Amino acid sequence: MKRGLPKVETKGLKSFIPDHEIFQWLEETKNPTAERVREIIRRSLDKNRLHPEEMATLINADSPEMVEEIFEGARELKKRIYGNRIVLFAPLYVGNECVNKCAYCGFRVDNTEVHRKTLLTEELVAEVEALEDLGHKRLIMVYGEHPKYDAQYIHDTVLEVYKVKKGPGEIRRVNVNAAPLNVEGFKLVKEAGIGTFQIFQESYHRETYERVHAAGPKSHYLWRLHGLDRAMDAGIDDVGIGALMGLYDWRFETMGLLYHTIHLEEKFNVGPHTISFPRLEPAVGTDIDKITEKHAVSDYDFKRLVAILRLAVPYTGLILTCRETTELRNEMLAFGVSQIDGGSSIGVGSYSEEDPEAFKKSQFLLGDNRSLDEVIRELCDAGFLPSFCTGCYRKGRTGEHFMEFAIPGFVKRFCTPNAVLTFLEYLNDYASGETLKSGLTQIAREMENMPEGQAKEELKERMEQVRAGVRDLYF
Ligand code: SAM
Ligand code: SF4
Repeated sequence: MKRGLPKVETKGLKSFIPDHEIFQWLEETKNPTAERVREIIRRSLDKNRLHPEEMATLINADSPEMVEEIFEGARELKKRIYGNRIVLFAPLYVGNECVNKCAYCGFRVDNTEVHRKTLLTEELVAEVEALEDLGHKRLIMVYGEHPKYDAQYIHDTVLEVYKVKKGPGEIRRVNVNAAPLNVEGFKLVKEAGIGTFQIFQESYHRETYERVHAAGPKSHYLWRLHGLDRAMDAGIDDVGIGALMGLYDWRFETMGLLYHTIHLEEKFNVGPHTISFPRLEPAVGTDIDKITEKHAVSDYDFKRLVAILRLAVPYTGLILTCRETTELRNEMLAFGVSQIDGGSSIGVGSYSEEDPEAFKKSQFLLGDNRSLDEVIRELCDAGFLPSFCTGCYRKGRTGEHFMEFAIPGFVKRFCTPNAVLTFLEYLNDYASGETLKSGLTQIAREMENMPEGQAKEELKERMEQVRAGVRDLYF
């Protein structure tokens, strides 16, 4: 395969984001009645993916009473379908060289204040060992867009990560967030055994997109918009979409995420595996205030957009990152966020190396600086069940969120037991005394709530095995 970045080809590609229609829905659904809003929430609770007109109606339901009903609807949906599990992961920054000029990102090519760094193999290994020592099992590897980080490089670094085993530690699922590849490149990356490939469109609003991506391959809106189609064509079943909130009106971007979902559903018969909605954060050498000027998303609107997404696309995993503060993250878990990162460090090489200047190698600055151990303890104390499960992906059950959602009893049969087993492993191998106590209490609560029967007996048996030192058991 030819090395370097793929050639950008946009011939024949059309946008599936109908700007005009989005504006029209947002206009036509203004001032909805409480009746209509309730009807839409009910449709969502009946497990229907919503229509753009329905999402626009929820966006326009902005009286405090209606917003509270939307929040309550999202909480109810989360409880009914997904239960209280929260999957934990960590980002691993492999290299911050980049040829693009994304106005908001510390890694952009013309940022002279950022320290450039690409991990050498031994440094990559040291980072993974440090992450394993914390107890992580799932990573998302993040790369700038640069000829150095081509498909072959991503493939090789992912394989390298899977090879690292320290003590009881191992990485069982690697997801990737990198620039869009061509079909051949995606095929190669798939061969390394990745989980999800994420590409965030940043802004679905083309004019805004073209303004903030002035040069480099990323300046081609359509190449990026169709990136995950190529991933699917290459056989990657789990893809993650996202929009960077703060570049343009969040109402439009949230509608854009829904249209992207519908496009994937229509073309491939399966929607995105996950949706991300990072908010713009300060970055070294970058004037973020100037970029978000008109479109900064308040905490309140941020909560609204997450609750609306939960209701609109009930079968998809929602990811929230350490970009957000602890308080806000805790609140939003109840709305249906299913994955969070814990103990994240986003400087290149900053898990294994104490560097007071690490922020200069970072893409942006974090809002939640708690350790994984603290995050886990607080999750348990708030009644959530932390999970490091990678069972579905390794049993070939791709599209697991869809199954959780569509197959009655799936969560009870697979997800909860796997969460308990992986969490028990974590507690035995890595937790501090205090976290161990909170964790065991949470597991005991979980077991108490589980109906008696063969499934519970099987789980108890495997829990005994975990306590005796057996690892990596799952259903
Ligand atoms: N270079 C690849 C790309 O741009 O697709 C992948 C890695 S990039 C570092 C991952 C994501 O970080 C971007 O898609 C963008 O949404 C997000 N990001 C960039 N700058 C940010 C900032 N200042 N605050 C929050 N998120 C940011
Ligand atoms: Fe490069 Fe990605 Fe940052 Fe843009 S967002 S400058 S492509 S690393």
